[in-house]
Amino acid sequence: MGQVTAGLGFLLLYIAVVWTLRDQPLARSIVGNSVLVASAALIPIIVLRRRRQWTGCQRLFWDVIAIAMVLWVVGHLGWAYDQLVRSEQAWLKWHTIFSLSAGIGPLVALLARPHLGPRSNAVASTAVTIGAYCLLAAFVYSYFTLMPSLVAEALPGAQSRLLKFVQFNRLAILIGMAASFWFARRTAWRSTYLRLAIGVAIGVILRYSVNQAITRGEYQVGSAYDFAWIVPWLFYAWAALETPPSPTVSPVADEAHEVSPVSLLAVPALLVPLVGYGVLNIQSVGEPVDSFRLFLTSLATVGVLGLVTLRLASQGTELQRADAKLQLLAAATEHTDDLILITRADGTFEHANAAFLRAFGHSRPELATLTFTDLIEHGVDSVRHGIAAIVKAQGVWRGTLRGLRKDGTAFPAACTITALHDASGRVTHFVGVARDITDDLRLRDQLVHSERLSAIGELIAGVAHEINNPLQTIIGCTELMLDDPDASNRTDLELVRKEAMRAGQIVRNLLAFARRGAPDRVVTDLNDLVRATAELRDYHLHQVNIDLVLRCDARPLPVLVNPEEIRQVILNLLLNAEHAVASSGAKRGSITIETLASGGTHSVDVTDSGPGISPELRGRIFEPFFTTREVGEGTGLGLSISHGIASSHGGSLSLADSPGGARFRLSLPAATDESAMRLFAGGAPPRALVVDDDDAIRKLIVRLLERRGFEVSEARTGEAAMALVRERQPGIIICDTAIPSLGGIELYRQLAEQDLQLAPRFLFIADDKASGESADVVESGMPVLVKPFTASDFESGLVEAGVTAPRTH
Ligand code: ADP
Repeated sequence: MGQVTAGLGFLLLYIAVVWTLRDQPLARSIVGNSVLVASAALIPIIVLRRRRQWTGCQRLFWDVIAIAMVLWVVGHLGWAYDQLVRSEQAWLKWHTIFSLSAGIGPLVALLARPHLGPRSNAVASTAVTIGAYCLLAAFVYSYFTLMPSLVAEALPGAQSRLLKFVQFNRLAILIGMAASFWFARRTAWRSTYLRLAIGVAIGVILRYSVNQAITRGEYQVGSAYDFAWIVPWLFYAWAALETPPSPTVSPVADEAHEVSPVSLLAVPALLVPLVGYGVLNIQSVGEPVDSFRLFLTSLATVGVLGLVTLRLASQGTELQRADAKLQLLAAATEHTDDLILITRADGTFEHANAAFLRAFGHSRPELATLTFTDLIEHGVDSVRHGIAAIVKAQGVWRGTLRGLRKDGTAFPAACTITALHDASGRVTHFVGVARDITDDLRLRDQLVHSERLSAIGELIAGVAHEINNPLQTIIGCTELMLDDPDASNRTDLELVRKEAMRAGQIVRNLLAFARRGAPDRVVTDLNDLVRATAELRDYHLHQVNIDLVLRCDARPLPVLVNPEEIRQVILNLLLNAEHAVASSGAKRGSITIETLASGGTHSVDVTDSGPGISPELRGRIFEPFFTTREVGEGTGLGLSISHGIASSHGGSLSLADSPGGARFRLSLPAATDESAMRLFAGGAPPRALVVDDDDAIRKLIVRLLERRGFEVSEARTGEAAMALVRERQPGIIICDTAIPSLGGIELYRQLAEQDLQLAPRFLFIADDKASGESADVVESGMPVLVKPFTASDFESGLVEAGVTAPRTH
């Protein structure tokens, strides 16, 4: 509204000024000409300020109008010069052609069709088309008006033709703007066209009376007649000011539009020679004008043809660019890992990329004989047939299907299916993009599996810690009772202690499974573990007609393990095998346990003659709580706990291929610790040295060690111990901190200084950790056992010292 008021105010002011100057013709002329020039110059100034806000054809539209207005200003300055300096109002001079631009400019600018969007890729072709139409206009004007005006007798006709030409031109702009307004009525450019159209309409009406005045010789610059120019220019300026900025369109969407059609160029290309040569024959003006007209026609024809060539050349480049883009898209489709398929509306094949052919195993000719539904696993027919309907209704379908390969196997695939439509909205093609999600599903299953395992781990850890405390009390109290030499029920107490110890070990195993407990790892011969476990079941197996075959590798197989845990794994495998053989119903069966070394791995194979494990169960047997046994018979935890134990040792438990029954393989990394290896040197039992001057304690420790399979020597003093170390080279020295003649810690220092090839592990025994020598030992970080200690404390001490060997019974 502000602009309208400003415009009206300006016009009133103009009237007032020129009325005041009515008796001063020169001043009136100067004011009139200045206002005309200023109002026209307003347009290019606004466009220059705002043109950055427009892009593509929208900027081209305003650029063309701005250039036209600059040309008009030049033309009018020429006219004003004639009028002011030469006192003549000449309408047919060199400057007329400039002044006419103001009418041609907005008309040809409409060819940019800015309401269709920026369309950056159409700018070059549109500019060429606009150039061709400008050339046509210049030709028509020069041919019909300018050239005849050179001959005196043809001048009056030329002048009236010019006025008609101008009026026709204004009408054409009005129709063009009105039509554009109609086409753009639902776009943001609607009001721009409307303002331009109103301005032009007022111009047409006013220009009619101006033409009359010019014909009658009454026109005077600096009068209300000038409104015929000023009013349209003000409306143009208003439109330029209010035109919305170009939207930010993605380059792809912007390029998707068609470029300006080549056929538009046919009009000037045909009209120029047709009119030029045709009129010359019908309406000759005489020489030399006719010769000029002939020359002009040839010149304009060449010019238009040049522009046509330019347009075709630019079209060629555009086609090449489009072609390169097509090739790029085709290459991308062909090389992607996703499966891409294009079918016709009836489901028959149009195209499938290489990944698709690979995944389904079909060749392109084979696909041509199939339809989309032939490639989906049968069974969910409602889904198969409903997809097309959903895509048609909603435009897209997303989901998981099972693709059917040529060999009959199926695979899960995540698919997205979309429809392509033609101009009338009819579906012409379906485009499917699919991805084989077999690996994704497997990963997801693994994740669910490990989540489940970790939840069970948490549970077990909680329960195990709760059980540990009462167990500790049972063991402690039992050992105290056993200390009483008069204890009457010794055998029962021993049994209670043994069973409590066993329960404690199970708790430790469970904690190891839950990865919560500190694993007691020692170097042990895998063969010994296998033998000891096999012995446990040997008698029973014999009773139930199952032959137990033991094939141990001749070499020792040292592994750094928690012996109890590994024994539990072997026992689990043995019990499972035993159960499988029994369930097969055969009268006789066999179980073979074999140890072997390969590379850096030592393994145990447990093979049975049972029914084996079906392929469907293979993936599930290691899951916790998975069991095929009757309720109450199996917990389904055996294999999962064993699997956890094997993994926590850096090894593995797997189901190996076997003809007939099942074969489980437990593999463990071979121990490489050199000092540990020496314990097994030559396959001899590990050696230990006990140094204590208290005979009772020394004998007790010797017995404990012998029970654990050690070959033990004993010494009462430090000196004797030194001699024995050299002679026997023990793997471990169990030494009281306070021994005669040397002292435990001193013995250790001397042995370390001598740098004996055997640097034995030490386990110190002290009365009190805080007193004298024992304090030094504790400080040095060496393992110390405080008297009195239980058998299990002793075992822990050995573990802490880093050396132990399996119990032999
Ligand atoms: P449980 O023995 O308590 O069922 P496991 O985890 O030890 O739990 O075993 C899980 C399942 O694996 C068993 O129920 C059985 O179906 C299968 N399985 C294990 N070992 C064998 C074997 N040697 N032969 C056949 N099936 C076996």
